[in-house]
Amino acid sequence: MRITFLGTGTSQGVPMIGCDCAVCKSADPRDNRLRVSVLVETKGKRILIDAGPDLRQQMLRSGTTELDAVLLTHEHMDHIVGMDDLRAFSFKHQPSRAVPIYADEPTMTAVRRVFSYAFAEKKYPGVPKFDLRTIGREPFEMDGIGITPVEVMHMHMPVLGFRVGGFTYITDAKTIAREQLDKIRGSEILVLNALRHEEHYSHLNIKEALAIVQEVRPEQAYFTHVSHLMGLHAESENYLPPNVRIAHDGLVVELQEP
Ligand SMILES: [Zn+2]
Ligand SMILES: [Zn+2]
Repeated sequence: MRITFLGTGTSQGVPMIGCDCAVCKSADPRDNRLRVSVLVETKGKRILIDAGPDLRQQMLRSGTTELDAVLLTHEHMDHIVGMDDLRAFSFKHQPSRAVPIYADEPTMTAVRRVFSYAFAEKKYPGVPKFDLRTIGREPFEMDGIGITPVEVMHMHMPVLGFRVGGFTYITDAKTIAREQLDKIRGSEILVLNALRHEEHYSHLNIKEALAIVQEVRPEQAYFTHVSHLMGLHAESENYLPPNVRIAHDGLVVELQEP
């Protein structure tokens, strides 16, 4: 199984428009962060988690020419607003093919609202085609790949993380209930959001994210959804234990097929 970090930045990305801090002006490519997304390649399938505003650039940059499914974590714009560009994956096929989208009911409601033109009775011919497959909290199967949703709380909003074999991906969490943590235990690779050093009302900070890593004990953890306030990427190894790294755009991690 191969994981490619397509984006590792918080909702505004890094650099942030109008900011001239050291991180936003850094020449280190690891300090350039598109909005969060990962590509999971397993059993010959390509699964995209989240479809934010940088989707087009991420698909081009990673050379992704086919997608078998898109999993959505929640309805916030930095996670869904790039879905219009998924039409490229429909129209390259003759006849055109709807892209399978997996998300829970509240997220699907937002998708139908934001992309209402794609669901209209009389559609413009060029609109994206989505095949909405609503999921709950129970494990489900996609083309023979077992996927376990993990519910985390983004302040008051439930957000879905996903576990595929030894890989767990969680973003936009502030708190995670004990029974949900139990679903993550034994992960080889845990990706978790960590926004910055200071506390935040709806995102884990470094200290809170490290406490979850300590509790779950994955072999390796990567932090994502990172703000410019985290400081320079090059300095992050100074305050993190060896089994925890801040992810950066373009990072590729390989692990055993489930
Ligand atoms: Zn977000
Ligand atoms: Zn900045």
